[in-house]
Amino acid sequence: MNTLLFYGISAGLARIFGMFCALLFCVTCSNGGSGDGLIPVGRAYSPDPNLPRPKNVILLIGDGMGYNHVVASSVYRYGSDDARPYGSFPIQLAMTTYPAGGHYRAADMWADFDWAISGVMTDSAAAGTAMSTGSKTIVGRIGMDPSGNPLTHVIQIARLSGKATAVVTSVEIYNATPAAFTAHSLSRNSYKDISSEMINVCGVDVIMGTGHPYYDNNGNERLDANLNPAPDYEGFYEADYTAVAAGLKGFTFIDSLSDFEDLADGTMTPPARLFGLARVADCLQCRRAGTSAIPFFDPSISTVPTLATLALGALNLVSRNPEGFFIMIEGGGIDRMSHLNHLARTIEEMMNFEDAVTAVITWVEANSSWEETLLIITADHETGYLWGSGSGRPAVFNPIGTNGAGTLPDMVFYSTGHSNSLVPVYIRGYGAQQLLPYADKTDPVRGRYLDNAELGEFLKWAVDDLDEELP
Ligand SMILES: [Zn+2]
Repeated sequence: MNTLLFYGISAGLARIFGMFCALLFCVTCSNGGSGDGLIPVGRAYSPDPNLPRPKNVILLIGDGMGYNHVVASSVYRYGSDDARPYGSFPIQLAMTTYPAGGHYRAADMWADFDWAISGVMTDSAAAGTAMSTGSKTIVGRIGMDPSGNPLTHVIQIARLSGKATAVVTSVEIYNATPAAFTAHSLSRNSYKDISSEMINVCGVDVIMGTGHPYYDNNGNERLDANLNPAPDYEGFYEADYTAVAAGLKGFTFIDSLSDFEDLADGTMTPPARLFGLARVADCLQCRRAGTSAIPFFDPSISTVPTLATLALGALNLVSRNPEGFFIMIEGGGIDRMSHLNHLARTIEEMMNFEDAVTAVITWVEANSSWEETLLIITADHETGYLWGSGSGRPAVFNPIGTNGAGTLPDMVFYSTGHSNSLVPVYIRGYGAQQLLPYADKTDPVRGRYLDNAELGEFLKWAVDDLDEELP
């Protein structure tokens, strides 16, 4: 049976199963919590613990990537909204992102343009923690519940199951999203404690991203007045950084472009564990100098790898584990450029992220298969409240308008912060159907949706090897 047909049938069966579960839920739920669009407190569904699991799980997170970011990127690149590499995935759902104490109500969202930017909004710490642990927490919290109790990360479950694990990002390795998968902290701003836990405690096999103490936002060496190196240890205890860079923490350390490229193209035999720090401070590319309003017009930093290169290198390493792997890959610049309402660089960062998605899909089809690997593409939240021009109160939601490939689309940011909008979830591969029954509510615009903590529960199920005794 060909793969598409198989998934078509599977998705169809799962939808029927999902509808059955939804019906069951309505019958058994005493408070009728799903009727008004509010997420009920208790959850109605979890996958059968006896179902076989995927060997490999790949989670791609576009930080701040809402539906309209996806549309804007697509119409800029292709001139239309139907050519995305993941646009043909058989299962596409929506997801709520609010933190502990928040809520999403579809009727309110679509009745008032400002509703989604007026209430309680999440951040990458709380949303990342929900996806990593299956538990809601408050804004700013990393891997801890609202009371400060540590939560179990999906990476901890994956490691107990014998899998290799990795976090890869286009921003600082100690920033909220990778931190939410590897660390526990009362504050996302405790960078040094977070990186210390990642290096010394977590046990993750691959850490890749930016935050290099010796380089600035343009990839130039930080030098003092006498032209001596002047590192900025914003994100590391100096002793941790010095030891990890010397290869003394159990990681092989790389930071040169050629090493990242050799690892990605197979020229370099992957080491057992790897700490890869691109030679730049903030984003791989998004904070570089330049003021152009045209995507990719400002010259790129030539000494740093792309997110796609990082992702391929990490996959080449973790895929050597016969028990499989879990990897989280983040496009972190989408959020940053959307906070700035920077149209051109938001498009750039979307395209850099989607290049990584394409590289991962190609890697799965060349080196693995959809029969053993599960791929999820989603976002932690939407940033910038991006809509077409002319949108606004009371309830005008104009779509992103295309101006043809290569020309910025009609797109306007209506906020400099995060919004409470639903975000998209694209999923393909072994076990994907098991996510469907979680999506037991329906938004009139986005369709069936689940909650980000439910995605976290699902991920922990997906990496939980049935052979192992878990605590
Ligand atoms: Zn943000």
